[in-house]
Amino acid sequence: MLSQISPSLMSKISYYSSFPSNGVSLRQMVEFGKNPNQGTMLRATQFLSDELPIRLAKRVIELNNLPFGLNKMPSILRVKHWYAESFQELIEFPKIEIAGYIRDKYRNSFMNGKAYYTQFDASDTQYLPVDTGSYIQDFTNLISAIKRRHDPTMISMAWGIIEWKNKDKDNQVNKEIQIFLDRFYLSRIGIRVLIGQQVALQSQPPQKDYVGIICTNTNLGDIAKEAAENARYICQEHFAIFDAPKVEIVCPPGLSILYLPSHLHHMIFELLKNSLRAVVEFHGLEKEEYPPIKLIIAEGKEDITIKISDEGGGIPRSGLPLIFTYLYTTANIQFDENSFQFNEFNAPMAGFGYGLPISRLYARYFGGDLAVISMEGYGTDAYLHLSRLSDSKEPLP
Ligand code: ADP
Ligand code: MG
Repeated sequence: MLSQISPSLMSKISYYSSFPSNGVSLRQMVEFGKNPNQGTMLRATQFLSDELPIRLAKRVIELNNLPFGLNKMPSILRVKHWYAESFQELIEFPKIEIAGYIRDKYRNSFMNGKAYYTQFDASDTQYLPVDTGSYIQDFTNLISAIKRRHDPTMISMAWGIIEWKNKDKDNQVNKEIQIFLDRFYLSRIGIRVLIGQQVALQSQPPQKDYVGIICTNTNLGDIAKEAAENARYICQEHFAIFDAPKVEIVCPPGLSILYLPSHLHHMIFELLKNSLRAVVEFHGLEKEEYPPIKLIIAEGKEDITIKISDEGGGIPRSGLPLIFTYLYTTANIQFDENSFQFNEFNAPMAGFGYGLPISRLYARYFGGDLAVISMEGYGTDAYLHLSRLSDSKEPLP
């Protein structure tokens, strides 16, 4: 792993960070990936090899400029170095400079021992024809490895902030840090969707109803049911109760949309975990039967709205402005660095304070939103809006 960012790498990073990012909509990704062939995959490769370094560079600069000594925390430096390292790998990957040809000096990075004939252009630069198939595959392997490198980003950032908070009682997640984290994680979602899409399109064969990681026929009722089962299971384990509160799902039969099933599952799962916890804690572990949580899905022209209503006692009005704050939690769980070994998909019941803010980012990423309304003393309603139009471009920080 990169332990220092050299001045020359840093100056490339700041150069790249000055370019604007290009957003993509769900619809565009589907149109583009519908019939993947070598031509479209090559264009996608070229788009990503321009776009990803810009997005990564912007994050390095922002991490560098974090205030109040946050930029010096070891766990945050580690994240910055991952970004810088991935940036470097991407800009060093050969670019196709004239149709089908790349410059000679890079050939070892992807030639795989194959023999190529050489050719000189007018400026006496040596160009080599590219085996397009293996070029695309090598690039896809590279970004797939980059995605894996960044798996622990969320955990590492969160841990860095906890350490920083513990250092000094004046260190609090204020508005500025909140805005930074929203931008940072939103950008991370975007980068991971773009990479995930390329990797999925490149690994054949395509699944029915899927274009890469996007499902053109995401069945909302099915996803809600699966998320409910998973959340109830975790609730039972966590509180050591025999039967978690029930989740009643009301959904127009067969209702489906174009969406990323993994994002949808994540958001509903997080909201249900919050509701389950509230209901169990409000009514007590001894309660024989808990009031059910109602999950209602409504279909409009613009939006699909998922409402999750619980009778978990609600949230005091003074707490409401805080619930979308990173690391804000009322769960009393002490963390040490080892508890941060879990990954994003092995989420605990509560205590991390990331459930709501990250779910709202997932919603906003594709033009939706998340709102929470509480009746203190009774319960909470969460409204998850998903845009049906799928034309909205990624909001780019
Ligand atoms: P975590 O679940 O890790 O605490 P979240 O971001 O999911 O983090 O939620 C933050 C806080 O918001 C919770 O700790 C809880 O105090 C409050 N909260 C969220 N949803 C509900 C709900 N349905 N009922 C009562 N309180 C809630
Ligand atoms: Mg939660």
